[in-house]
Amino acid sequence: MSFDAEKVRRDFPILHQEVHGRPLVYLDSAATSQKPQAVLDAVSRYYERDNANVHRAVYELAARATRDYENARATVASHLRATDPREIVFVRGATEAINLVAQAWGRSNVGEGDEILVTGMEHHSNIVPWQILCEEKGATLRVAPLDDAGDVILEEYEKLLSPRTRLVALVHVSNALGTVNPVEEMGALARDRGIPVLVDGAQALPHMEVDVQNLGVDFYAFSGHKAFAPMGIGALWARSEHLEAMPPWQGGGEMIASVSFEKSTWNDIPWKFEAGTPNVGGAVGLAAALEYLERVGLDAVAAWESELLAYGTEVLGEVPGLEMVGRARRKAGVLSFVLDFAHPHDVGTILDREGIAVRTGHHCAQPVMERYGVPATVRASLALYNSREDLDELARGLAVVREMFG
Ligand code: PLP
Repeated sequence: MSFDAEKVRRDFPILHQEVHGRPLVYLDSAATSQKPQAVLDAVSRYYERDNANVHRAVYELAARATRDYENARATVASHLRATDPREIVFVRGATEAINLVAQAWGRSNVGEGDEILVTGMEHHSNIVPWQILCEEKGATLRVAPLDDAGDVILEEYEKLLSPRTRLVALVHVSNALGTVNPVEEMGALARDRGIPVLVDGAQALPHMEVDVQNLGVDFYAFSGHKAFAPMGIGALWARSEHLEAMPPWQGGGEMIASVSFEKSTWNDIPWKFEAGTPNVGGAVGLAAALEYLERVGLDAVAAWESELLAYGTEVLGEVPGLEMVGRARRKAGVLSFVLDFAHPHDVGTILDREGIAVRTGHHCAQPVMERYGVPATVRASLALYNSREDLDELARGLAVVREMFG
């Protein structure tokens, strides 16, 4: 499928503005993506015409809101190639999805002396929930180490899969390094030993086709806002047998079948995990975002971004004193680097004055910074609406930094 970069760019109204007197160059999509008009329209249409609380009332608006919400669930399921919409739990985002699994699944499946295995490139949201669980249960967090390029050392990973390992929790695409992990291969190594696998897909969904059947994993977590949907909505996909067996994690309205002061019983999956009023407008926006991505074509998006990444790597390679952090075999969306003539925070501030938005800091992945011996990096992250010109602008901005500091 061909990719019309100019047309895609026109779909994102926010990109067409000036910042500090210069055309905006948005290179921080790993932090959050911008939203296409189709998503903005879907959300405002929902609030203009259909808004009501879901699952609770018999009147027309409530029926429409409930239909919109459940249709959104079906869209998410089909996007992920899940076999059943009941395997989709709406949450606030990847962080909440992982906490849900750590608490609801972890509490009943992890005990003293058990181990949870993560990789050395996890975002804090795929470390801390497991630490909390381990602390509570007397379990241990194990970490599969990374090589100098930013790949997991697979032999070490395999060695760490032990009879005590209860779960592998790994990131699909690293937000700090851009590494695309071989999830199928790593998942199969765990599954062969009967170990379930959770994948943090926050950075994968906007860049590539995600097929949970092919990945062969147990849990897949993502945030809508990184995939062109509004903030405050995301989803956990989990195999229905896990969801059926897991106790609820939050109590309240909607997640119950019956309540008395003596005893309450739980709703069916997935509603058992959706206590309280959900973010219906967000779910509608999420469905619109995934439909938009499918219309553009995931293969075309992946091909365009891989071209951009190669171009960006080449352009940045020509900047004297620049060192790339993260040179993995397979990467998506992220160019993370340090300069020997300026601190990342200064770089970010100067680039901002040039209209260029990049992220600087530890990217909520402090162990990654430690592994590569840097306090912070500058991170330019890409999405389908970026262009070669954006990367040329980044190089021009870095030349301005050099003039000031070099
Ligand atoms: N996982 C990864 C790899 C991320 O990059 C992020 C956010 O940057 C998260 C998880 C957390 O996402 P959220 O803050 O949307 O829950």
